[in-house]
Amino acid sequence: MFENLWRDEEAQGWAEGAGDDPAARALALRVYSSRLIGSVPDLVMHGGGNTSIKLRARDVFGDTVEVIHVKGSGADLDTITAAGLPAVRLEPLRRLRALSALSDEAMVNVQRANLLDSTAPNPSVETLLHAWLPDAVVDHTHATPFLALANLPEAEAACREIFGDRLAVVPYIMPGFALARAAAEAREQHPEAEGLLLLNHGHFTWGPDPRTSYDRVIAQTNAVAAWLSDRLRSRPRPPARPAAPPPDPAAVLPALRGALASALPEGAALPVLDLRATDHARAMLARPDAPDLARRGVATPDHVIRTKRFPLWAPDPSPDALRAGVADWAAAYREAFERQTARAGARRALPAMPGLVWLPGLGVVGVGGTATAARIAADLGEQTLRVMEMGEGAGGFRPIGEADTFDMEYWPLEQAKLGRAAPPPFAGRVVLVTGAAGAIGRATAAAFAAGGAALLLADREGTDVAGAARALGRDHAHWEGDLTAPGAAEAAVAAARARFGGLDILVSNAGAAWQGEMATLPEADLRASFELNFFAHAALARAAAAAFRDQSAGLGRPAGGQILFNVSKQAVNPGRAFGAYGTAKAATFFLLRQLALELGPERVRVNGVNADRIRSGLVSDAFIAERAAARGVTPEAYMAGNLLGQEVEARHVAQAFVALAGAERTTGHVMTVDGGNVEAQLR
Ligand code: ZN
Repeated sequence: MFENLWRDEEAQGWAEGAGDDPAARALALRVYSSRLIGSVPDLVMHGGGNTSIKLRARDVFGDTVEVIHVKGSGADLDTITAAGLPAVRLEPLRRLRALSALSDEAMVNVQRANLLDSTAPNPSVETLLHAWLPDAVVDHTHATPFLALANLPEAEAACREIFGDRLAVVPYIMPGFALARAAAEAREQHPEAEGLLLLNHGHFTWGPDPRTSYDRVIAQTNAVAAWLSDRLRSRPRPPARPAAPPPDPAAVLPALRGALASALPEGAALPVLDLRATDHARAMLARPDAPDLARRGVATPDHVIRTKRFPLWAPDPSPDALRAGVADWAAAYREAFERQTARAGARRALPAMPGLVWLPGLGVVGVGGTATAARIAADLGEQTLRVMEMGEGAGGFRPIGEADTFDMEYWPLEQAKLGRAAPPPFAGRVVLVTGAAGAIGRATAAAFAAGGAALLLADREGTDVAGAARALGRDHAHWEGDLTAPGAAEAAVAAARARFGGLDILVSNAGAAWQGEMATLPEADLRASFELNFFAHAALARAAAAAFRDQSAGLGRPAGGQILFNVSKQAVNPGRAFGAYGTAKAATFFLLRQLALELGPERVRVNGVNADRIRSGLVSDAFIAERAAARGVTPEAYMAGNLLGQEVEARHVAQAFVALAGAERTTGHVMTVDGGNVEAQLR
C-alpha cells in the first residue's frame, strides 16, 4: 500500500516560504506534492512521470497571462524545484488543439517559444496533454500497480471493474500531439472521471489543487494494488525451481562485462554493471516462464531508452555461453532494427547492447555506459519484475510490441533525454585506487571521477575512505581493509568486480615510509615496508590481471587493462634514512617493468609515477618543518626546492596518473612529478 505522505504543516511551510503572492504559494505547493510523488520509486523514478499546475502570472508588461507550469524535460520529481516547472503561456497551447496534426519539432518549438523564461528547460513532451485537460493541477505517474493494470490483456474491463466511470481509458498512442488529443477527448466524454488509464503506459489524475490531485494519485494507485493482490492471491503461484546456492557475482560479472562488449566495435569501453541480487529478482528468474517473460517487452515506453526492449536471458554464466548469448541478442536487435526502419524510415542505429541481463540464480543486472546509467537500468529492471509478477498474476503482462517500442526508442525527443554531449574520456572505466583516503589517493580518485570513471576507493579501516567516496557522488564505492593481509588484494579487486562488474584501471598507490638507516634498521621494519610497498603492489597487480583476463574471456579477445603504480623518487634517488622505503619501491619499479613485459600481449599497460615531496600523511607538516630547519630554509622554500621553484601538490600527481591512463601506446613508463630534480631524473 502507498502511504499518503501529505502533511499539512509541511505544506504550510512550503507555502509560507514562497511569500505572499498567491501564485507563488500555489506553485510551492505544486513543488511539494511533486516531490512527495517523486520520493516513492514505485510511483515514478529516473525522470519518469510529470506534474503541472495552471496559474495566472504577470509578464514583463505587467499584464496577467494564463500559464501552465509543467515539468521540464530531464527533471526528477524527487528533487524538483520551481525552476524545474517552467511556465508556458497556456493560450497558444490551447489553440494548437484546433490543428489536425502537428510535427514533434513544431510542438517542441511552440512550447519553447511560449516559455515565460527563455532560458528554462524544454517543457515535458507530455505538456499538451497537461495543457488540454481543464483541471488546474495534473499528475502523471508510472506507478508499478498501474503499469501492471495498463499491460493486462483485459485492461479496460479491469479498469471498469475497479473504478467504474471514475477512470477513463486511453488507447496506447506514443506521447505527443496525438496522445494529448486522445486524452482530452476521453476527459470530455467522461466529465465525471477523476483520472485516466493510459494503456501500456501509465496513469493520469487531476484536481482543483495539489492536495486533491495527490490524494487521488495515492487512492487510485492503492485501489489498483488492492485489486491486483486479490487476483494474485486467488491464483496458484508458478512453482519456483529448486534454489541452488547463488554463484559468486565477483566470479561471474567480469566475463559478462566482456561478453556484452563483444557485439560492439573493437576498442569500445566495456559497460558498467549493477547487479541486484534480491530475493524477489531471484524468485522471478527462477520461474519456469522466466525465459518467456524475457521476451515480452517494456512496462512503459519511456523505459526503452534505458533498458532496450528485451533483457539478455543468460542462464549459463560461462564466458563462451555469455558471448554466444550476446551475439544472438545483438543479431535479433539488428534484425528488428532492419524491419522497423523498412517501415518507419532510416535511422542511425544505436549500439546493440542490452540494458538489462537476467542471470537466473543471481539476479537482474543493469548495464550502462556509466555507473549512473547502469543503476538507472537496474532500478527500472527491478520495477519491471514487480510489474510482471503483478500482471501475470492478474491475467497477463502484454506490453507494446516491436513497432511501438522502436518508435519510442528512436524518437529524437526521447534520445534527447540521454544528452548529446560526447562522453567524458573515462566514461564507464572502473578504477580502483588504493590509499584513497590520503592526499594523493583522494586527488587521483577525484581526477578520474571528473573524467567519468566509476571509482572504488580502497583504504584501511579507521580512515575516512567512506567519506572520500561519498564526496565523489553516489555512484562510487569504497572498500576497507589492510592490503598487507593475506587475500586482501584479491578482496579489494573482488569488490570492484561485484560492484561494477570488473576493473579497467588499478592505481596501486598505498604506501608508507619506515625510517632508519639500513645498517641499524630492525629487520621487522624492513619486512613490514616490503609487505606494503612491494608485496601488496604485486598482489594487487595479480588480482587486477586476473580480472582483465576474465573480461577478455568474455570478450573473446584481449580486453586490455591498466596498472599504475605510485613508485616514488626513492626508487632511484636514495634519501638518508629512507632505505626501507626506497628498496621496496625499487623492487616495485622493477615489478612495473616486468609486468609491462609480460602483460603487453594482453594489451595491459603498466606505468608509474615518481612523485616527490607532496604534502601527505607521509610528508607531514612536522616532517617538513624538521627537514626545512635541517637545511636552514623556510618550510615554503623547502617544499618549492625544485627546478621550477614551485611546490608540487597531490593534484599534480593525479594529473600524471590520468595522463598515463590516457596515453594509449605507453607502457613500462615512469613519469616524474617533482618540479624538476636533476639527481632524481631517470635518464
Ligand atoms: Zn508517461
